[in-house]
Amino acid sequence: MQNSSPPRAPRVLGIAIPSPLRRLFDYFPAGAPPSCGWVPGLRVRVSFGRRQVVGVIIECRDHSELEFSRLKPIDACLDNAPLPADWLWLCHFTARYYQHALGDTLANAMPVLLRQGRPFEARTRERWHATDTTTEHDERLTRAPRQAALLKMLGQHPRGLTSQAIFAQSFTREQLRALEAKRLVQCREETLTQNTMAEGKGLLASPALTLNAEQSAALAVLHEGLERFHPCLLQGVTGSGKTEVYLQLIEAVVAKGRQALVLIPEIGLTPQTLGRFVQRFRVPVVALHSGLTDHERLDAWQAASSGRASIIIGTRSAIFTPLARPGVIIVDEEHDGSFKQQDGLRYHARDLAVMRARHHQIPLVLGSATPSLESLLHAQRGHYRRLTMRQRATRHPPAKLELTDTKARIRRGGLVPPVIDAIGATLDAGHQVLVFINRRGFAPTLACHACGWMAECDHCDARMTLHRHPPMLACHHCDRRRALPDACPDCGSADLRPLGSGTERSEETLGELFPKVPVYRIDRDSTRAKDAMDRMLTEIRRGEPALLVGTQMLAKGHHLPHVTLVVVVNADAGLYASDFRALEHSAQLLEQVAGRAGRAAHPGRVLVQTMHPDDPNLRLLAERGYEALATTLLEERRIAALPPWRYMALLRLESPNEAQLSTMASQSATIMRDHLQQSGLAVDCLGPVPAPMERRQNRYHLQLMLSAQKRSLLHEACAWLVAWLERCPEARRVRWSLDIDPQTL
Ligand code: ADP
Ligand code: ZN
Ligand code: ZN
Repeated sequence: MQNSSPPRAPRVLGIAIPSPLRRLFDYFPAGAPPSCGWVPGLRVRVSFGRRQVVGVIIECRDHSELEFSRLKPIDACLDNAPLPADWLWLCHFTARYYQHALGDTLANAMPVLLRQGRPFEARTRERWHATDTTTEHDERLTRAPRQAALLKMLGQHPRGLTSQAIFAQSFTREQLRALEAKRLVQCREETLTQNTMAEGKGLLASPALTLNAEQSAALAVLHEGLERFHPCLLQGVTGSGKTEVYLQLIEAVVAKGRQALVLIPEIGLTPQTLGRFVQRFRVPVVALHSGLTDHERLDAWQAASSGRASIIIGTRSAIFTPLARPGVIIVDEEHDGSFKQQDGLRYHARDLAVMRARHHQIPLVLGSATPSLESLLHAQRGHYRRLTMRQRATRHPPAKLELTDTKARIRRGGLVPPVIDAIGATLDAGHQVLVFINRRGFAPTLACHACGWMAECDHCDARMTLHRHPPMLACHHCDRRRALPDACPDCGSADLRPLGSGTERSEETLGELFPKVPVYRIDRDSTRAKDAMDRMLTEIRRGEPALLVGTQMLAKGHHLPHVTLVVVVNADAGLYASDFRALEHSAQLLEQVAGRAGRAAHPGRVLVQTMHPDDPNLRLLAERGYEALATTLLEERRIAALPPWRYMALLRLESPNEAQLSTMASQSATIMRDHLQQSGLAVDCLGPVPAPMERRQNRYHLQLMLSAQKRSLLHEACAWLVAWLERCPEARRVRWSLDIDPQTL
C-alpha cells in the first residue's frame, strides 16, 4: 500500500559527532524540518557534554537504546539538503577501513567553515525562464514596473538566467516569486550536469603537444577505459612526459562533461605545475592546497561539488573533495610519502583514490617514475594495467647514477676531490649544478673533540642540529632551541666542532670553493619568507652558471633546465636503516633527484657519494635502475613475509609516563594474543616494541604490530582490539591510535 501522507519525522536521529568515540549519539529532531525532510547527511548543531558541536545525521529511526526521556533535542538543523552523497560514501568507507570514529572522519574531511556550522550552498542552481505565454504588456504588471522589467530581461535570455545573475541586477526574490505566482516565469533547478563555462568555445586554451610513440600508446589504452573502473599504473621515467599524458586524458574526460581530480604530493604543487593545467584549459580549474584561506577552501569545495569546476588539483586531503560528475582520478608521484597522513586519521590518499574510482566506476591513473612496491605488486597480479614510458620526451636519456667512494678521502663540506673537480668543470662549461643534501642546518650536530660529547635534545632521543643563520642548536623533532655552548658541558673543553654537513655548511664551503658563482640554498629555513622560493627560482631559471644546494624541497617537482650535474652528498642514510621500507624510499628519492639532471638542451651527470660503493642494492640501482632494484626488493619482502605481501597494522601507544605506558602496552599485547589464540584468527601480533624514536617531545612511544595474509582477518583483529581498548578504563591514561597500512614504523 502506498502511503500518500507526507513523511512523518523520525523519532530519533543517530548523529556522528567529532569525537574519538566510535559510535553515534542519539538525539530527537526539533524545530522546523529542513525542506528535504530529515535525511542522513544533514549537519546539525547539538549540545554535547558542555560543548556545542556540529554533527552529521547518519541514521533516522524510531527507536533508541536509550529511554526517550533521556534524549535531548538537536539545537538546529544547519542544512536544507544533505552533504554530497559521494563524499558521505567516502567518509563511511574511510572510517570503516581505517577503523576511525565516523564523527571525527567527517569533521576531518570537510572544510573548516562547514565544521564550524557555516552554510553550504545546495549543489543545484536555480535558473529562471520567462514562460511562452508572456507578453510584455501583460495587464497584470501595469502596477509592478520592477516585475515588468525583470520579465523583460528574462524574455531577452532564451536560456534563462540564474538567481545569482538576477539578484546582481538588483531584482529581488519577492519579485521572482510574484511573477512565478502569476505563472509568467518558471524556475528550473539546474543540477549542473553540463559544463556551462566551456560552452561555445573550445576546451583548450593552448594546443596539446604532439605525443611521442610511448605517450600515444599509453593514452590510447587510457582512452579505452573512460567508461569504467580502469586502474592503470603509468610508469614513466622522469621527463618522459607523464604530465602531458594526464593533460590529454583530462581533455577527453572534460569533453564528456565530467570532472578530473588530480592528486599531487605536497612538495609538487608548485605554481609551475598548476600553471601547466591552468594554461592548457579554458575550463575552471581549482587548486586545493595548504595556502588557501578557509573561505577559499569552502569555495573550492562548492565549485567541485556543484560541478562548476572541471579540474580539481590538490594535495592529500583533496581526495575528500565532493564531485558532481566524477570522470577520472589521477595520482601523480603515487609513491610519495606525503599521501599518507601521519597523525589523527591516518589515511592514504592514493589507496582511497583507488576505492573512490572503483565506487564511481571511473578510470584511475597512478603515475610515477618509481612506483611503490604496493602498486608494482598490484600491476604484477593484473589488478592494474601497466603502462610504461622509458624514453624522455626531451632530447637526452636519464643520466646513470655514478657511485663515488667517500671512504678514507678528505672531504670539504662533505664533498670529495673528484666531485669538486666535476662541479668546477660544469660551472666552467656555463651550466648549473644541483647539490642534494637531505639535512638542513649547518651540521647534523655539535661534538666535543676531547671527550666525544654530542649535543642531544633533552626531550627527544635525538641529536640537536647545529645552525649558523642564526647560530643555535635546534631539535628538528620538537623544535626546541638552545644557545650554542662555549664549552663542553661534560669535560669543559672548548674544542667543540660541527659533525657532518647540512645545507648551510655546503652553501658555505661551495661559496669558498667557487667564489665567482652564486650559491642558492633552498630548504625549509631559506624559503620561510613569502616568495623567497619564487625569487630564487626566477634567478636560477635565467640560466647563468650557479650552484643550487637543497633538500628534497628542491629535488622534487621542479623543472631546472640548466642543471647538468647533480651531486648527492650522501646516499647512505637509507641503506642500513631499521625500517623495512627505508631502502625503497631512498631509492625513490635518489631517482627523483637524479631526474633533475639534463632535462633540457644538454645531457646530465649524477654523482652519488657513498661509503658503501659495493653495496649490492646501491649497485643494482646504479647499474640497472629502479625497476631492477624494486623487483629484488619485492622478492625479499615476499621471503620475509612483509608488506605488500602481507597486510600490517600498528597500534601506537604514547604517554609521558613510561611505566604506565609499558604496563598498558604489555596488557594490550597479552589480551590480543589470547584472543587470537582462542579465536584461531590467522593474525600475528608482535611486540610491544619501542618506536624507532622512543622518546619524542618528552613522550614515550611503544607499538604493537599486527600482520596477516588476509586483509579481512587483520581488520577483524584490529576491530576487536579497538573495541577492547575503548572499554578498558586504564587505556584512557595513555594515548593510542591505530595505523592501518603504516608507511613508517
Ligand atoms: P614527467 O612528468 O614524466 O617527469 P613532464 O610531463 O614534466 O615529464 O615532461 C617533461 C618535459 O617534456 C616537459 O617540459 C614537457 O613539456 C616536455 N614534453 C612532454 N611531452 C612532450 C612531447 N610529446 N613533445 C615535446 N615535449 C614534450
Ligand atoms: Zn667534552
Ligand atoms: Zn627534541
